[in-house]
Amino acid sequence: MRKVLLVGIDGLIFHRAINSGRAKKLAELHQDSFFIDIEVDLPTISGPSWSTLVTGKRQDIHKVVDNYFVEHNLKAAPDFLTQALQINNDLVTYAAAGWPPLIDPDDIGPVIAAGKHLRFARDGEANGYLKVDKEVADHALETLKAIGPDLSFVYFCGVDEAGHRHGAIDQPYFDAIERIDGYLNELYEVLLHRTQEMNEDWLLVVVTDHGHRDEGGHGGDSPQERASFILAHSINGQHPNWPKDLAPYHLTEKLLEHL
Ligand SMILES: [Zn+2]
Repeated sequence: MRKVLLVGIDGLIFHRAINSGRAKKLAELHQDSFFIDIEVDLPTISGPSWSTLVTGKRQDIHKVVDNYFVEHNLKAAPDFLTQALQINNDLVTYAAAGWPPLIDPDDIGPVIAAGKHLRFARDGEANGYLKVDKEVADHALETLKAIGPDLSFVYFCGVDEAGHRHGAIDQPYFDAIERIDGYLNELYEVLLHRTQEMNEDWLLVVVTDHGHRDEGGHGGDSPQERASFILAHSINGQHPNWPKDLAPYHLTEKLLEHL
């Protein structure tokens, strides 16, 4: 049985993270995965960028052009979990996130459409991502262990939060990277266990929505703000052989193809 976990790490400067020595799991996965650097569309902010990554449609269709979601057209751009259910309504889909516009049906958006997904929504804007990312990680670990959904999206925002508050060259940014890399490692261990014990075939995919300027902040067109990546690691070792020239809006299609 093929299953996919997409982990979103907001505001991650990937190569800086792995070169810092603070992102041990990402560095290890980088050595043994399908990996490409990609460039996200402008503006390099969360709303449009995540909308493109997880719906497979660009801004001309989903119309999310900022973090306010005014006049968005996400109904024309269903998220990848919703698309999977349209193909096979028996699939189990799961999303966990602390940024309300991504996940909360009562907030603006949400990018992950209301529907029958298992859903864990928290508010990191109000409560801080140090606390909320941990809650997301705990819920995701429990859900993956107990249920092993067919297709999941788990999102962390603490790296982006640290970048905004402290910049992307000082210790708090790397502290957040280390913390979320630890959650990623725990999620990986659950997938490894399920692969070995339950004969499942897991694909772990990691992506970000934009980088940061050194002083913190993003939205512009500098290479460091536009830099993203796609890392895809099959737990059984047969990593995907995806084209090297994938754009952000191609990711959804690749995730769905894998199921
Ligand atoms: Zn973001």
